[in-house]
Amino acid sequence: MSSSSSQRRRVNSDSLSCVPESGILNERILLLVFESLKWDVNVLCQTACVSRKLQAVAKRLLWKELCLYRAPRMVSELTSGGPASRLGGGFSALAKLLFYCCGCESTRCFEVSQPVPGHFMKSTRFSKTSGRSFLMRRCGSDLLYVSDPCEHPTGSSNRGDDLGIFRGVFRGFLKSKTRDCLIRGVGLEDGVHCPYCGARCWSMTAARLVPKSAARRLGANEDGIEYFVCVNGHMYGTCWLVRLSSDDGDDDHDDDDKNFDQTVNNSCSN
Ligand SMILES: [Zn+2]
Ligand SMILES: [Zn+2]
Repeated sequence: MSSSSSQRRRVNSDSLSCVPESGILNERILLLVFESLKWDVNVLCQTACVSRKLQAVAKRLLWKELCLYRAPRMVSELTSGGPASRLGGGFSALAKLLFYCCGCESTRCFEVSQPVPGHFMKSTRFSKTSGRSFLMRRCGSDLLYVSDPCEHPTGSSNRGDDLGIFRGVFRGFLKSKTRDCLIRGVGLEDGVHCPYCGARCWSMTAARLVPKSAARRLGANEDGIEYFVCVNGHMYGTCWLVRLSSDDGDDDHDDDDKNFDQTVNNSCSN
């Protein structure tokens, strides 16, 4: 390599390092670009994979902005209440939870014939009214958003029912009554990690903290439901959905749900 070309290369790299916010790393430009894309989660996933610097910007700033844009009411509720409602696991984990069905595999209390892979959702409705159905009465003051179940037909199931996979998130889980009950009642599950933040989990089923209303809310068999809560307050679970006849109707939502819902759409799929 000639001395002039090595010098030119050094000058170029020096000039880049002197202008850390040049081009795509300029955060104001990034915010404007993503706003014009209506905070497309697929594009942000790809952007965060480009380089460590972009991954860091996404972690510090972009995932939070995406969550605020795509689920404003839910994020406002989850983060209201001061330091006590600190969002466990950060906004990247929350973004994944908003858009991604985690699939499932067999666990200690719930058996499937074969693992179900995770996938992005076109649209998910989260409801804190639904969340109340997943809490025992003594934990009723906790705030928990829970999604409608993602339905996975399983023709090979022995039970003949469809698999439902649901997910949710607590506000201020560190100070929640559910966490108190879990800590007093049962140890963390061996080998089970949250699909959204990677942290360890408690089994609500093993802790006997699953009320009957949870199965009713999901339209599931009472003995065919299991869910986990991670130490950061993410919840996810599986159930066997009861097939409804046409006479059963499909509107199982309370009228007052409309005030507590947050529907999250994946714009790329629309
Ligand atoms: Zn699914
Ligand atoms: Zn988690």
